[in-house]
Amino acid sequence: MPSPVRVGLGYDIHRLVAGRKLILGGVEIPSEVGLEGHSDADALTHALADAVLGALALPDIGHFFPNTDPQYRGMDSQEILHRAVEEAKKRGYKIGNVDIAVLAEQPRLSPHVAKMKARLAATLGVTVEDVGLKATTNEGCDTIGAGEAIAAHAVVVLVRTE
Ligand code: MG
Repeated sequence: MPSPVRVGLGYDIHRLVAGRKLILGGVEIPSEVGLEGHSDADALTHALADAVLGALALPDIGHFFPNTDPQYRGMDSQEILHRAVEEAKKRGYKIGNVDIAVLAEQPRLSPHVAKMKARLAATLGVTVEDVGLKATTNEGCDTIGAGEAIAAHAVVVLVRTE
């Protein structure tokens, strides 16, 4: 019998570079630097999509959206997350709740958390009460602390619908 709940874990990191927009949680955040990557490089949304796929024991988003495929260049990562949610639906699961920790030394993300939660909730098909999102710095440690990259961790619970 299929499990009534399934849990998934996701992680992603992208480098900060000049000349790119900073997109996190599907929201454009004013910044001198942005994340480098093939798609819009939204590390937070990538971690979340990988958590959904992981809960289904599927391969990661690189399998569904290879970064060698020109059709995915500059892609809105909400589309990637939407696809992961569709894969869950196909297998008889919906999103129960998610929780995310995003690590960024700069810029300050807290003014944008409410907007990110609303955008993610819409893509996930849940209410904002089902989306946990904490932004923290890395206390000056390592690459993230030096302001060279932004990383995110995500967990998701899928609930059986059938
Ligand atoms: Mg990524």
